[in-house]
Amino acid sequence: MKRLPVHETFYTWQGEGCHMGKPAYFIRLFGCPVRCPWCDSAGTWHPDHIPDVIEKWEIQELLHAALKNQAKRAVVTGGEPCIHDLRDLTKALNENNIQVHLETSGAFPIEGSFDWVAVSPKVYKDPLLSCLEEAQEFKLIVDTPESIVLWENKIGHLYSGRPIWLHPEWSLRKDKTILEQINLKVKENNYDYRAGYQLHKLYGVDEESAVTPSTKISLSTL
Ligand code: SF4
Repeated sequence: MKRLPVHETFYTWQGEGCHMGKPAYFIRLFGCPVRCPWCDSAGTWHPDHIPDVIEKWEIQELLHAALKNQAKRAVVTGGEPCIHDLRDLTKALNENNIQVHLETSGAFPIEGSFDWVAVSPKVYKDPLLSCLEEAQEFKLIVDTPESIVLWENKIGHLYSGRPIWLHPEWSLRKDKTILEQINLKVKENNYDYRAGYQLHKLYGVDEESAVTPSTKISLSTL
């Protein structure tokens, strides 16, 4: 039976991008080979942070947990969720009228059927053309004053009118140079750049809602 390694799941609301503020059941899968130095999900891959036990959930367990929360939308994230085959998971969620959104670095092929794909490319592993084409929105993490131009030169010809959210890397969210770069790019109005933020971090909703695998819902209790 198909199982996926789960770092945590939680019912909360989307704090980023075009669906900001909408309720969603988050499924954070384990593992990421991209290894960004400022990763805010290091518990999914970094040796200093990974838990002792990584539990694998059956697809039906994830589905029932989403249904139990009466979720109309699930966000599959990580780690890097696309290192896993997500076809069975997305099929099960879709068949139960739960919209499925994906958050990926775009560095691995997307296997699954998604209603919304957000690609956040990282310099530590180049995104695939197929993922960039499938994206409905982009999220660029601005961690240096050159970040925006770097991506513009690399993949700007593929933006094609889709929104590009500019997020200050969280530890630099008050850095005047980084914020100024974002301000200028948005006001240039050459692409559909939008000033982004991780609103859920201001609200602290993830910490309140997280369910680790060890406290997962047992199928037998449903
Ligand atoms: S791609 Fe995402 S999950 Fe992976 S290391 Fe980078 S920020 Fe972390």
